[in-house]
Formats: sequence, structure tokens, C-alpha cells
Amino acid sequence: MEIYLDANATTPVLAQARAAALAVMDQDFGNPSSIHSTGLKARALMDAVRARARRVLGLNTGELLFLSGATEGIQTAVLSALGALRERRASSEGATADIRWLLYGATEHKAVPEALRHWNRLLGLDLEVKAIPVGEDGRHDLDWLRAHAAQAGMICTMAANNETGVISDLEGIAAVIADIGAPSDRTAHRPFWMVDGVQALGKLPLQLEARGIDYAPFSGHKLYAPKGIGLLYVRAGAPFTPLLAGGGQESALRSGTENMSGIAALGAVLAALEEGRDFRDGATLLAYRDRLTLALREAFPDLRFNAPPALCLPTTLNFSVPGLSSKLLLDLFDAADVRVSGGSACSAAKAQPSYVLEAMGLPASQTASAVRLSFGPAADDAFIREACARIRACGEALRENCLSPTGNQPLPADGVTRFVVDGACCWLIADAASRRCVVIDPLPELNDRLSQWLRCQGYALAAVLDTHSHGDHASSAATLRAAVPELLTPGEVDGLGWPLADGRHERLTALVLGDRRLTRLPIPGHTEDSTAYLLHESQGLTTAFVGDMVMPGALGRSDFDQSAPLAYRDSLRQLAEVVGPHCVLAPAHDYDNRFASTLSAESALQPLLAHALRGTLDAQAFAAAKAGLERHLALTEYQTMACGARVDSRRFEVDTEVDIAALRDLLERHPQARLIDVREPYEQRLSLLPDLPERGAGHRLQATPLSRLVDALPEWLSLPADQPLVFFCRSGNRSAQAALALRRLGHEAAFTLAGGLALWPKESALDSALYV
Ligand code: PLP
Repeated sequence: MEIYLDANATTPVLAQARAAALAVMDQDFGNPSSIHSTGLKARALMDAVRARARRVLGLNTGELLFLSGATEGIQTAVLSALGALRERRASSEGATADIRWLLYGATEHKAVPEALRHWNRLLGLDLEVKAIPVGEDGRHDLDWLRAHAAQAGMICTMAANNETGVISDLEGIAAVIADIGAPSDRTAHRPFWMVDGVQALGKLPLQLEARGIDYAPFSGHKLYAPKGIGLLYVRAGAPFTPLLAGGGQESALRSGTENMSGIAALGAVLAALEEGRDFRDGATLLAYRDRLTLALREAFPDLRFNAPPALCLPTTLNFSVPGLSSKLLLDLFDAADVRVSGGSACSAAKAQPSYVLEAMGLPASQTASAVRLSFGPAADDAFIREACARIRACGEALRENCLSPTGNQPLPADGVTRFVVDGACCWLIADAASRRCVVIDPLPELNDRLSQWLRCQGYALAAVLDTHSHGDHASSAATLRAAVPELLTPGEVDGLGWPLADGRHERLTALVLGDRRLTRLPIPGHTEDSTAYLLHESQGLTTAFVGDMVMPGALGRSDFDQSAPLAYRDSLRQLAEVVGPHCVLAPAHDYDNRFASTLSAESALQPLLAHALRGTLDAQAFAAAKAGLERHLALTEYQTMACGARVDSRRFEVDTEVDIAALRDLLERHPQARLIDVREPYEQRLSLLPDLPERGAGHRLQATPLSRLVDALPEWLSLPADQPLVFFCRSGNRSAQAALALRRLGHEAAFTLAGGLALWPKESALDSALYV
């Protein structure tokens, strides 16, 4: 069962609302403008729903229009108010010369400032559109408002915020506006006031008339009605300009044949609300929220709520978990079939922090890990019980993966894991048998996460290595070592962290981690001290950690003071001699999510590398050609210094997608095809798919988290190139990265499941087909 905790985004449709909509489509399909019986019936239904809505909103006066939703309501309100301001300005009525700005709360839904800017521009008003600051508690700064309100043409303040649930002090705002002038006193240019009531409908009394609110838009789909139906309240006497002109419906205030099935459905919801059916009272909702809060605190002991619960809707919780990103938490919840929303909208390159939380002054670390959990007032006890159980299971999955600050019960880690921060990569090599590990190229941003991981696993930290003295950041090796002194192997190390033999100033030849061995290979070029670390496993050399010497699509730059440009070519040739063309190269930077490279793949894409390896350029000519490439290096998309000139940064435009039907076909034709779940272990643990790791060898399903992709690469690249590898994840994004990485490295039969598990048919016959 899906636990849908994203009610502030939209709600399911209440059963009786669905039935009412169907009845309208099925039998009572009349046009309320028709004067025959079928039309009259439709009009009667519409009038009855409007009357009910007026009762629910406590309205005796003013207009209540049906329209498509809040965004349309907002446009209509803003157009009406700004149109009136323009007319007054033209007729010089009242003191309009003093009007300077259009004000909106800094945490308002984007529809509001965008509508203000749009109509301000179209109507040529040329007023300044200004955000009313909010305090740490998310509420409007009333002192600021008091200082600015008299010169405002319009003030827009939402009743409750969709991200945090913070309830505005409408009483306080009403008092500020009342101080400027009475609604009837037009000469005092009282600003028009819009209150976005979307998140308040059915949860808060708004007292629209008593407070002198001019406009209030609502959306049906936030309260169990379908999408496409909304309401707009317009105060009696408030100016009005129709957004849609035409057949004169809605008393010519909003033309266009009414959405009767939507109106009928909204009517059924309002009936349930009015009659106290299906909807819980405030005290019950608060008790539900308390239970969810308790479960969240158990799952994430150091979580922080991003708004004071006492000021919030009882149905919304916005929280952050230190050290865990919104994306990670979202994936985790989704794997447990719990739908929540990130406090931030994610762009492809970098998560955009929530402007709502930023406006409240929350630190970046907190906005980056924000999650919104919201339920609707029709939630019941069984739903909340199941939600709490799933939340607790999420906490358990984190503890098994060392992602909780306390109470971790780790599954022993083994192999190579990648951590990435803004294109910079850090590598962890763990050996479960010997309980030893090595960190390569630690990053300051990962210090807390890595030290927590190390303490949780309790593995001896054999070394913290850098592949070179980094130009774009100071090494955080010393900080990491200092964070876990109890796990550190004592002894002297060289400048890059490689251990020196006891009492001597000679380096150890190899670091031993059980059956794994790490050796070093100096490759001066990017810097004088550049070093590759070679990982030898029972099957031989598997991976070379080459720093910035060879990155996917680029060679490391060699124009730093500490670079050795004339040594670069020979170091590349030396590397090729030792590791060969097909060894997996793990880089220190990977701006395009290619994960790893091989000399063979890179030579095909980087002509300069091909020349170096073929020996068609001498060291001097190579250095000169390379300097040419590096002359005007721009910052990366992460606004960090580029560590090399990218010659292959284009998007790798190949279609790797297969849908479910194509997958079934592929599995039939290729019995040896593999299906690879690239979600992280904490997600796989919660998944409703058959338990992947426990199915044993010989099965088609394989669990290889994206962070462990490089660990699996040596084996996958040794498979026949036509053996299909089909990657899947939650949405198809991560699996697409994996498939593209494999294709780029020469494994042509790499695919991604289009749409991911989100589109996977439940109870599909495919599940049984997945096992040989
Ligand atoms: N205002 C608020 C507070 C909202 O939460 C939303 C929807 O997310 C809107 C306005 C816009 O509503 P709709 O997209 O239904 O037009």
C-alpha cells in the first residue's frame, strides 16, 4: 500500500466526490446555461454547491466564482486589483501618486509574485514588486509591513504556507491594513488585499468578510476534489476585471462553460466537510501529527523541525536531518512506498534550496536536507499507524547503513564506494574480511559523513591518501584522521598519506587489506607529486585511482605552480604500461557523471591522449598542445575551478531506454541478461521487490548501488559486449547514468528501464520472469 504523505501538493479524490463527478458525466451532464430541464438541473446543482461553499467559508456577501484553480484565481485577483490601480491613476482619483509597490509575502507560492510581475508589466503600472520579509518562524514581519503598507497598491499574504504549514497572522495583517484606511475610504488608497487560501481550506476559519479581505483563491485538488476546479472569493465592492470574456457565464465574471463534474465533486467534498463526515477535527489531526513526530524522532534522532509546530497547520511537518540530503531522504521514503516531498526542487546539476526556507533565514545545511510531510484532514488512524511503521523502518534502513548518528547496526561493507561532491570524487576501499579500509581523496564536505561511517563500521583506517596536492581545495586528510584517532593505524606517513616503514623514511611497498593490496605509482604531471594507487584483488589489478591525471573527458590541467607539464606525457605512457588499456580508472573529478574511464575509452575521445600514448608527440610538443587547451579554462557548472580542459563534455546522446515490453522481449532473447538495481542499499532494504541480495548467484537480479558502480565495472567490462545489462532505479535518472557510463566504456548492451520502478507494473508477471 502506498502511504501518500504529500497532501499539500495534491490529494486523492474522495470516493463520494468521484461518484458525484461520474454522475454528472453519466446522467446529469447538462449545461447550466441551457434553459431546458437538463440545463436547469445542472444549474440547480451548481447553485447548491456555491451556496454550500459560501456556508463553509462563512460568507454572507461578495462573489464566489467557480474557476479552474488557485492559479487562475490569483491571476484574476491580481488583474482586477492592478486594473483598478491603473484606472485610478488615469483618472487621478485618490492619492495614487504615493503608491510605489506591490507587496507579497516572501514565502508566497510562486504563482503570486509571478502574477504580480506579469500584470504589472502588461498593464504598464511600473510599480516595484517587493517581498515582505518573514521571520525565523515563517511569519510576516509586521513592522516592515506597517512601514510599507501605506504605499502599497496591493498586498498578498497567504493564509498558510504550502511548504512549512506556517499559519499567517491574518489578524495582525488586517490590523496593519485597517490603520491605513477603511475599505470604503478610497481616497486613503487602502491597498487591495489578497489572501491565498489554498492550504487553509477545510483546515482553518478565514473570516474573509470580517477581516476585509478583497480576494481569496482556492484549489479543489488540495482538498480531495479533482484537479481543474477552484474558487475565488471577491469582496462585495472590490474591483473586478474578468480574465476570460465570452459567453457570460458566472454572471459574466468568468466566461466559459462551467466544469460541472469538478463542481459536483467539490460539492461532495464540501458536504462531507460541512456535515463532519470523513474529516477529522483539529484535535485529532494534532494527535496524528504528534504520532508522526514521535516516529520521525525515533527514525532520525537528530532531526530538526524547520518551523515552530505550534504555528503550523496540524497536517504539515517540514524537517531536516543533519548530514542527509533531501534527495537521499526522498529516495529512502519512496523505497518504503511513502511519498513525501523535498523541501527543495532539484535541478539536474545541483539541488536548488527552498526559497521558503531561505526566506526564513535557515542555514544552507538545513535547507539542503529539508523534507515536507503532509497529510489531508481525511487521514484515519490506520493510515497514520502504517505511516509511523514505515517511517520507523526507514530509520532502521539508515542504521544498517551507518547513516544514523546513533544506534547503527551496520551490515559489513566490502569493496569500492564513491562519494561525490560537486563533481569531486572521494573513494573508500573497504575489506570486510580483514575489517580494514582506505580513503582516497577525502573531501572536507564529507568529513562528518565519513567519520560517522568509519566509527560505525569500526574498520581500521589503514590510510587516508591523496592522489596529489589539490589545487582547488585543501586536503581534509588530517581532519579525517583527527576525527577517528582510535581507528588509525599508527605510524609516519608521506605528504600524500602513504605509510612509511617503521623507523625508516622509506615508503611501504603495499598497503594490505585482507586479500586486497594497494600499491602506488608516481605519475608527475598534473602536479609534481601526482600518484596513482593501484588496487589488486584476487583476480589481479582491477582499478587504478588516478586522481586528475586522466578524468572522463579530460586530462588534468598542468598550469599550476606545482605542475610538471614536461613530465605529463611520460607519466601517461608509464601508466599505460603498468595498467594496460582496459583497467578501470577512478578519477578525482567527474563533472559529467561518467564514473570512471579506461585509457582505451579516453584515447578514442581525447586526441591528445591518443598522441601521447602512440608516441606521435614528444614531451615538449605534448606540453605545448596541452597548454593551448588550458589557456582559458572557465569555472565548472558548480562554480568550482576546472581541474582539466574538457574535450568531451557534450551530453552523451544515445537512447538507452527500454520500457517494460522491450525488457520482457530482451529477457526472452537473452537468458544471460542481467537486471541491476542501482538504488542505494538503504532503499533496496525497504523495497517491495523480491529481496535482491538473498536470491543468490545465477539469478538475473543484481544489486549494485550507483555509489558502488565502479566496484562492479571490472567484472561487467569483462563480459561479452552483447550481454544485456539493464539498470533500474526509482525514477530512471540514476539508472540512465549507469547505462550511459557503461556504453561510454564500450559495453554497448547497456540499458535503463524507462521511468524506473515508479512505472513498474505492480504484481507483474515480469517478476517471475526475472529469475532463471
Ligand atoms: N497557492 C498555494 C499555497 C499552493 O500550495 C498552490 C499549489 O501548489 C497554488 C497556490 C497553486 O494552485 P494550483 O496549481 O492548483 O492552481
